[in-house]
Amino acid sequence: MLHRQKQKYCKQCRLKMLHVRDEIHHRTYVIHGFLSVVTCMLWVIPGAVIIGIQQNLLRWRCQVCGKAN
Ligand SMILES: [Zn+2]
Repeated sequence: MLHRQKQKYCKQCRLKMLHVRDEIHHRTYVIHGFLSVVTCMLWVIPGAVIIGIQQNLLRWRCQVCGKAN
């Protein structure tokens, strides 16, 4: 996973704060797609769940208060 940082406005701190986001490597999605085809789409459901969880991780989080903005 890639760790990215960015200056963003935080609604909780009401200031521009440093935010962090974990980015999933594009390869992860390719592997899910490949496994889905190989295992006759059995990976679609767990894959969708994993991607759903990852979408939550993709939000920018304030480093000070931890709020997702
Ligand atoms: Zn904050």
